[in-house]
Amino acid sequence: MLPVHRVRQVGNWANVSTPLGLLIARVGGCTVARGPRGLHLADGYRLRFPYAGAFAVGNVLLSRQEWSHHERTNPSLLQHEEAHTWQWAALGPLFLPAYAAAMGWSWLRTGDRASANWFEIRAGLDVGGYVRLPLRPLREGLADAVRVARAQLSRVSGRDRSRADGRNGPAAGSRGADAVA
Ligand SMILES: [Zn+2]
Repeated sequence: MLPVHRVRQVGNWANVSTPLGLLIARVGGCTVARGPRGLHLADGYRLRFPYAGAFAVGNVLLSRQEWSHHERTNPSLLQHEEAHTWQWAALGPLFLPAYAAAMGWSWLRTGDRASANWFEIRAGLDVGGYVRLPLRPLREGLADAVRVARAQLSRVSGRDRSRADGRNGPAAGSRGADAVA
């Protein structure tokens, strides 16, 4: 391990992001193995949140599938997720609100959570399996946000009404989880 990787390893322990990642891996039912450069590779993540096929928390790279599968089919994915470990080292727990803000901004500007997300651009959109969508006017993004918020509100109030009537709310749609974060 190079000194720079040792610095990242110690930094992500000290800023508690790696302990948090190991805890999430445990709660998510993962099998964790030691990876290269001080990384931890967590296979078989089972929880529905976050909506991603793979993601990084501190030095822990979590995946729904086995990392050996990714090494065979998409070796660049590890490189993409490892880039996020440096972002964790730089920001510590502040990575989470910063990433959420970048994701919101990206959605407003492109309608996609990754296309204009600084963290994903730096980690590599292509290797992360993302496409780069063109920017849209901010006005258009804000109008879209209002539309989505109104739809969510009417869905929630509809669910409350059906609960009051003793009926079940609308079933949540099932979504795939092929995306990575
Ligand atoms: Zn990513």
